[in-house]
Amino acid sequence: MKNKASKKLILGLSTLIVYLTLFSFKNPGFPKTNTRLADTGFKIRTIVVDAGHGDRPPQGGRFSPGAPGTYSFERNVTLAIARKLQDALEKQLPQVKVVMTRQDHYDVLWGKRADIANANHGDIFISIHCNSLPDKTIREVVGHKHHKPVYKTVRVPDRSGRGVLLLVYSTDRIGPQNEAIRENEEIGDDNQVVTSSENKADDPMAAIMLNQMKNKYRKQSIHLADLINTEFTQVDGRRSEGVREQVVLVLDHTAMPSVLVETGYINNHEDEDYLNSEKGQDEIVASIVRAIQKYKDEVEEVGK
Ligand SMILES: [Zn+2]
Repeated sequence: MKNKASKKLILGLSTLIVYLTLFSFKNPGFPKTNTRLADTGFKIRTIVVDAGHGDRPPQGGRFSPGAPGTYSFERNVTLAIARKLQDALEKQLPQVKVVMTRQDHYDVLWGKRADIANANHGDIFISIHCNSLPDKTIREVVGHKHHKPVYKTVRVPDRSGRGVLLLVYSTDRIGPQNEAIRENEEIGDDNQVVTSSENKADDPMAAIMLNQMKNKYRKQSIHLADLINTEFTQVDGRRSEGVREQVVLVLDHTAMPSVLVETGYINNHEDEDYLNSEKGQDEIVASIVRAIQKYKDEVEEVGK
């Protein structure tokens, strides 16, 4: 019984090695550590640009409106930046195909976004979002009774958040899921958060493979996020909360290096002005494009 099991394991592992070798050719890791890529001629051919959130679709149904600012909405800012990013990438990387997960104001569910990215065999997935802090609650004196102050708990906006944040998908399932809920929430739909690739556990080999691939994409995602963050901070002088690994569902389901860019806090007045300005949007786009260009040069250099 035991022997049979270990035989099965050995067979399984050798299959895995063969698979991994094959996969490595298709999806290179960091060029400096993966010498097997030397003659693959890997090229970044498709970049998927994902404008976060959106309006309720005309046919109705679930949608994720995103965070509100004082005078603007996350869903409009993300679309404006994503369109500019599409234009800039098409202009500066003419050999690369750019795929948008949404073209108009209407929301596309996160699962569909990932499907679009995967169906187009994206080599990079960039999701554009705006950050926001939830209201904070404070206790306020609203009057006096018997010479004692009467308190009331009130909600006030927390505008203290500022700057960029880069999210990559965390393989840590116990990690903070609040962001996943916030970034992926679709009205009237709560069960999405527990849906994940984990339910493929009936095929252990597939699960191991999936984890290996995810780990590879995770490293590449972190690297790309680092490059974008460096451009934001060093060229644009933005404040940054850095690169964070978090459970973000749209990133979980994309089979490619994927980064979610929180371009600024829409509920902070200064950031909101920046996010809505031509200058701000152009800077954000230019920084992302420079980072992608660097990343592309790195992964393609191996093919030369
Ligand atoms: Zn968002």
